[in-house]
Amino acid sequence: MRSRVESDLTLVPAYVALGSNLRDPAAQVRAGFEALAMLPDSRVAAVSSLYLTAPVGHLDQPDFVNAVALIETALAPRALLEELLAIERQFGRVRGVPNGPRTLDLDILLYGDESHEDEALTIPHPRMHERAFVLAPLAEIAPDVMIPGRGSAGALAASVEAGGITKLDAPEQ
Ligand code: AMP
Repeated sequence: MRSRVESDLTLVPAYVALGSNLRDPAAQVRAGFEALAMLPDSRVAAVSSLYLTAPVGHLDQPDFVNAVALIETALAPRALLEELLAIERQFGRVRGVPNGPRTLDLDILLYGDESHEDEALTIPHPRMHERAFVLAPLAEIAPDVMIPGRGSAGALAASVEAGGITKLDAPEQ
């Protein structure tokens, strides 16, 4: 993947969750990886496999494809969020039912070991520690990463109910 980062920037490791359940979700998530690779002052350091997951919350909708990417970024948290929202718009996401169908959903899970809380952004993502569809791909690429106050991704992934989650394929190199 292409890298858009100057060598003298200080980069923070950030984990981004991707999810889609519309219009060939696996292709949407793979294209999402490519879009992340184009973020300014950032590079993609690792991507998980794709996971087919049953919907939670609003159940009457297609299954999702979920994945997690590790990026290294010089963007501040709010700037990163704005970039991710722009990618979502570019993918034609239409906001509707909460937890409802979406072409591409991007969430910031972790940003270094920083906590961030404002009206638009909460980091760590407040529900990540209980969502198997986040923890399974996160634990695949970063089993030892700590979710503050909750434990390691690997331990949490092992402790949540992971029924309805199937690994689709190995990550593309
Ligand atoms: P949703 O449609 O459920 O994915 O929510 C998207 C909105 O959640 C965004 O517009 C953000 O303002 C807000 N948000 C709060 N915390 C986060 C986070 N850690 N990552 C992404 N979006 C977040």
